[in-house]
Amino acid sequence: MDIKITKTAAPAAKPDPSTLGFGRIFTDHMFVMDFNREQGWHDARIVPFERLSIHPASTVLHYGSEIFEGLKAYRRDDGKVQLFRPMENIRRMNNSAERLCLPQIPEEDAFEILKTFVSVEQDWTPSAPGTSLYLRPFMFGNDETLGVHAVHNATFLIIASPVGSYYKEGINPVRIMIEDEDVRAVRGGTGYAKCGGNYAASNRAGERAEQKGYSQVLWLDGVERKYIEEVGAMNVMFKISGEIVTPKLTGSILPGITRKSCIEILKKEGYTVSERLLSVDELEKAMENGTLEEAWGCGTAAVVSPIGELCYKDQVFTVCGGKIGPVTQHLYDTLTGIQWGKTPDPFGWTVEI
Ligand SMILES: *Cc1c(COP(=O)(O)O)cnc(C)c1O
Repeated sequence: MDIKITKTAAPAAKPDPSTLGFGRIFTDHMFVMDFNREQGWHDARIVPFERLSIHPASTVLHYGSEIFEGLKAYRRDDGKVQLFRPMENIRRMNNSAERLCLPQIPEEDAFEILKTFVSVEQDWTPSAPGTSLYLRPFMFGNDETLGVHAVHNATFLIIASPVGSYYKEGINPVRIMIEDEDVRAVRGGTGYAKCGGNYAASNRAGERAEQKGYSQVLWLDGVERKYIEEVGAMNVMFKISGEIVTPKLTGSILPGITRKSCIEILKKEGYTVSERLLSVDELEKAMENGTLEEAWGCGTAAVVSPIGELCYKDQVFTVCGGKIGPVTQHLYDTLTGIQWGKTPDPFGWTVEI
């Protein structure tokens, strides 16, 4: 891979770590690469962070051809920076690309691009507890025509944003509303792809939940509105009578890397983990008879997020006394320990830059 690097003449001052939110501040540079049918991927470059100039007829602006990824670079105590399971993000991005008829990037090239970009921007990885450098690879169709077809031109970028600790005031369980009207995805659709369109279609339910004081919605399947799927931008897990249950990947659920990591940790430790269909009726019964012991969401941003309250058809259930449960806490400690390099990594999940 030939990656041309042009450094900025005016590097920005690094932000005060206490002011970091999520995705508001961006680093000095970005990675850009172009694709067309004749040349394939070409002109890989790291350039100063700047606005893009795109044609008003660009495919993405009309037909939503866009996919993205989200992963973090973590600052270890020894000052080095590391990534968590980046090949998983690369493979998922190519699966998303395949679904949206966008061009794939050879895995080794994508890995080299990611490592090179992070090494250029690594000084932007903050070191305060819980902070990290969030990496956002994304790709969009960029044909300059209103014709509808698989794209011939695409652009791939990576931007980076130093982000604050998700849990500044300690881990607070969230309130979640089970959405029984809108659906996020259907089997055969784009639910398993990480694409912007899934989010665009989710916003209405998210807004409604927020107005009622809930932080996110829990989606049901798009056909019967019967089976639990996932939370806004997180997968979901439950502990019911000792069994850890998470919805199986049927095609309409995003295959989260945090989800996969939680399953692997729990299985290694001898927990019973079932990836299966879980109906909202079964969940409701478990809440009524007290066998729902814990519930949590899992995703890169929050790692794990305990669910303290679930609302279904205006009935409100408290989960685990509104507190974080022991399995949730244990997963949080184990994952963050590995990610920030504070504990050994028996799985070989981390990649040093
Ligand atoms: C990204 C994402 C997740 C979580 O995936 P991770 O790889 O764990 O970060 C879950 N659900 C949706 C809809 C997502 O976009």
